[in-house]
Amino acid sequence: MKRPLWQELLAGSGLALAVFLLLRGVDLLPLVLVAAVAWLLLRVVPLSGLGRRFAVVSPGEGGHASVTFDDVGGQDAAKKEMLEALDFLRHDDRVRQLGIRPLRGILLTGPPGTGKTLLAKAAAHYTNSVFIAASGSEFIEMYAGVGAQRVRELFRRARDEGRARGKNAVVFIDEIEVVAGRRGRHQSHLEYDQTLNQLLVEMDGISPEDDVRVLVIGATNRSDLIDEALLRPGRFDRVVKVELPDREGRRRILELHTRQKPLDESVDLDAVARETFGFSGAHLESLANEAAILAMRVGLSRIPQWAFLEAIDKVAMGEKLDRRPEPAERRRIAVHESGHALLSELLSPGSVARVTITSRGEALGYVRNAPRADQYLHTQDELERDLAICLAGALAEELLLGSRSTGAANDLEQALAIAHEMVRAGMSPLGVVDVDELPRATAQRAKSRIIAGAEARARRLLADRRPLLQAIAQELLVREAMTGDELRARIASAEAGASGARAEAAAAQAAGATGAEVARATFAAGEGAG
Ligand code: ATP
Repeated sequence: MKRPLWQELLAGSGLALAVFLLLRGVDLLPLVLVAAVAWLLLRVVPLSGLGRRFAVVSPGEGGHASVTFDDVGGQDAAKKEMLEALDFLRHDDRVRQLGIRPLRGILLTGPPGTGKTLLAKAAAHYTNSVFIAASGSEFIEMYAGVGAQRVRELFRRARDEGRARGKNAVVFIDEIEVVAGRRGRHQSHLEYDQTLNQLLVEMDGISPEDDVRVLVIGATNRSDLIDEALLRPGRFDRVVKVELPDREGRRRILELHTRQKPLDESVDLDAVARETFGFSGAHLESLANEAAILAMRVGLSRIPQWAFLEAIDKVAMGEKLDRRPEPAERRRIAVHESGHALLSELLSPGSVARVTITSRGEALGYVRNAPRADQYLHTQDELERDLAICLAGALAEELLLGSRSTGAANDLEQALAIAHEMVRAGMSPLGVVDVDELPRATAQRAKSRIIAGAEARARRLLADRRPLLQAIAQELLVREAMTGDELRARIASAEAGASGARAEAAAAQAAGATGAEVARATFAAGEGAG
């Protein structure tokens, strides 16, 4: 690579000076050391980011900036709040006339993948602004002052780009909690504090008289970590919550992500939306993509409903694994999953969508629950039921195989979390307490009592249906998976057989049958449960 002339001249003169000084007997070692340190600083610091370019996209240039609010599914409340705020930017003259302080910042908070970045891009499009994006982690370096310098650079860049294109600018900072975390919290706090201070200075500097109006949009999953100074009016004036989508939102997001995909007539996106409680927009985008991949793998030109249902498992649990456990281990997995599935149906009929012993991601087997209405509150009964279902896998192992295994570790963690929630909600014998103030042993005892109660209930229900449990496990071993309907049909016929036999036993007793005959009839009632 050819060097510029000034560099050649500088290098030549430096060398000549060094030779001259050496000839004069001057010790050059300290000078060489200073030069080496200076060279390192100049090389390493800019490489690590002082000169880093932030991503800039302008509306009308295609790509991401062409994202509009119509491309964001669900999130109606968030969109409405943002539109209200952005109208200030669109009607600049009226805002000036009324002497309204300009809106400087909007903070989007919510779980990952819910569309915060999309909303920020749509905001840029709506206000005809250039969109400049950076992530909080890009500002943080071990070198003092670099973060603050990068914040200055980001805002300077936003103004330059806006000016060059005759537009306003939206500065989007993702993971803003990294730069805007509470001051004094970090070990290298001076660097973090300087960066945050610079951000505050830049935001305070935004004025209605600026030729380029800058709007800062921050996004975070951890609004609890944000320094209050940033949330003060005049900085992030609006805090907009971007929640996980509800059922209607999920359907709209699925529609958006299947717009360009050929769908089979069997596809019912409403049913898919019902089955995906807890999925974020990013999960749903991935689901639509996985369904298309599955269709392609089997050579279909249109995506069928089964591909969407299969993709739900894949997105929720991970890729199917080739690993095939040893026969004894497979049997244990089948027994474990049968325990969960049977108890789930007994306590909450219609709740199982699918039970399988196919390994996916971290799970050796799993029960997928059927859709239920989106729920944001849980009653004590529901929590006790969930607790019993959680424990049923380990109990089934104990009942049919004589011992538990480490496979239940996750279930137990979940059971402890539910019990903790119950203590916190005042549903334990301790009544209403501040869990954080409780001695650990007391809290632990309360949780153990709740868990023991649920365990006794689950054990009783499973022990009463031991042959049925065995039969479900056997069927899973042979077929790998059962749908909820197949499981329910099997339970219904077993329960009908059991109640018929129980009625016969009662009738025999009433008719004065011998003890042995009654015992035989009662035994048949138990067997009938299989
Ligand atoms: P993070 O907090 O992890 O940065 P985020 O909330 O910023 O996530 P986005 O980057 O906006 O999430 O979303 C990731 C992808 O998920 C988007 O590119 C889009 O494909 C999809 N997506 C998320 N939410 C929605 C939504 N509401 N409508 C349509 N697509 C969505």
